[in-house]
Amino acid sequence: MTLSDEELTRYARQIVLPQLGGTGQQRLKAARVAVIGAGGIGAAVIPALAGAGVGKITIVDPDLADLSNLHRQPIYRSRDAGEPKAALAGQFVRRLNPFVEVNPIERRIDPGNAPTLLAGHDLVIDGTDNFATRLAVSDACVGLGLPLLSAAAAQWQGQVGLFRGRPCYRCFVGDAFDADDCDNCAELGVTGALTGLAGNLAALIAIRFLAQAGEDPVGVLHLIDGLDGTQRPIRIPADPGCRACGATPSS
Ligand SMILES: [Zn+2]
Repeated sequence: MTLSDEELTRYARQIVLPQLGGTGQQRLKAARVAVIGAGGIGAAVIPALAGAGVGKITIVDPDLADLSNLHRQPIYRSRDAGEPKAALAGQFVRRLNPFVEVNPIERRIDPGNAPTLLAGHDLVIDGTDNFATRLAVSDACVGLGLPLLSAAAAQWQGQVGLFRGRPCYRCFVGDAFDADDCDNCAELGVTGALTGLAGNLAALIAIRFLAQAGEDPVGVLHLIDGLDGTQRPIRIPADPGCRACGATPSS
């Protein structure tokens, strides 16, 4: 996949990185990424991926921009309140980088439609704000054999990890939250700086993964504590009874 003169100029500051180079840039251009949720996490992930030259970005979000969320969603403007976030995020991408093909989808992802919406991508990045959606996305990724980069932030804690196959995200959180919306930012509160930190860490891991730069980031979960300012990597063990990625998954 060749790069035009304009693209070589646009991406010069990252192509010069020895671990990325022209080959890594071509891999980014060939990559198809689905971003689930265009909220606080997505508002950091989407500009970073579009700016870096990820070739195709699908943005799935059913909601409208809201004044009370703009403190953590700086890709939207005050006058965007009431407009669909997926379409607005798509406009943002087109203004930032015309070399990115963006596909906004104004739908809520659920266990029924997730396999169809996610098929055909190389990486899924989930920045939604509730466990039920995240588990639906994770189960679909396991079923399709897609890597899932999960990013979350609430109160002062953030979590970012790349899952592929086993262990999966469900091994990490268990089955208790399928019908729950318990970690919604509206109830717990969050700062935009923390969602931006988690979103940018997710974007950095995505770029490393897609460009094949540096260590393989699969299997490490990064725990961010925004109050004491630390970041800690841990490894998630596989759940022997996991109904998504286990040896004998139930139907
Ligand atoms: Zn699992």
